[in-house]
Amino acid sequence: GSTAVSVIGLGEMGRALAGALVTAGHPTTVWNRSAARGDELVARGALRAATVEEAVGASPLTIVCLLDYDVTDALLRPAAGALRGRTLVNLTNGTPAQARRTEAWATDHGAAYLDGGIMAIPPTVATPRAFILYSGQKRHFEAHRESLEVLGAAEYLGAEVGTAALYDLALLSAMDHMFNGFFHSVAMATSHREGTAAGFTRFLVPWLTNMAQMMPTFAADVDSDAEPSFTQGLDVVLSGARNMAQASRDAGVRADYFERSVAALERQCAEGLTVYSAPEAVRDLRTTSD
Ligand code: NDP
Repeated sequence: GSTAVSVIGLGEMGRALAGALVTAGHPTTVWNRSAARGDELVARGALRAATVEEAVGASPLTIVCLLDYDVTDALLRPAAGALRGRTLVNLTNGTPAQARRTEAWATDHGAAYLDGGIMAIPPTVATPRAFILYSGQKRHFEAHRESLEVLGAAEYLGAEVGTAALYDLALLSAMDHMFNGFFHSVAMATSHREGTAAGFTRFLVPWLTNMAQMMPTFAADVDSDAEPSFTQGLDVVLSGARNMAQASRDAGVRADYFERSVAALERQCAEGLTVYSAPEAVRDLRTTSD
């Protein structure tokens, strides 16, 4: 039969995860501070634990999805004894350093630990669009792979336990820049009297979709020591960035992002560079070197 799984944290995401496990036929035990949030799951066959310790003790695998690591620490510390010999998978959003500290703590208490980052929203959990990044000891991942695949494609990133959090936050960084770029471009486009967000977005989606196709080429350039395959004149790129900043200001829209972008390109010019390339753009962002 299916592995029993406990889920701690029944917020929007925790309920989606627990619901997927129930649907897939895993005996599922749940716990949440506000117990009522588990009512629907219990009606569908989940067992309700009275305490975190009881939840951990009910299954070989416990999945945690809470607000943050402070809440996670506060709830799990008193239940450390129950974790011995069991596996803890923490899908709470956090930093690589938090993942490393939690792994050390779990290991000290005889528990197997995996850290994860959910690349899905609650409605896409357990659909083909969901994937979840995992890091930690491979044997722990392999031992529970089948249960974890229920939640979304399980992507194992390696033994360095902070990697899932690093990639998760880096993916969120790209998403955040994309949406902020969307908001900025809509503010510019709708500064025109007849401009509507919908009318503009008709061009934006195909444009961004085309541009996203270039990322593998940029990535190969970043990874390679050879001359970048894609470059543009730095003067051309700088002039375009200045135009974006100026047109933003003229349209009554904040231009902070382009002011930073202009400053970065001016820095590269001052260093004697003449071409714009992905490796130089990435290098310019680093504040520390290896
Ligand atoms: P919710 O706000 O819906 O749920 C938060 C959970 O944390 C609830 O179970 C809540 O309990 C619990 N909690 C908060 N504070 C405390 C506390 N002091 N003591 C005990 N329990 C507490 O958030 P989500 O479910 O959306 O997010 C949970 C995690 O999943 C986050 O780390 C988030 O970044 C991550 N995530 C969420 C995504 C999403 O689209 N929602 C996407 C990818 C990741 P209670 O019900 O009692 O308040």
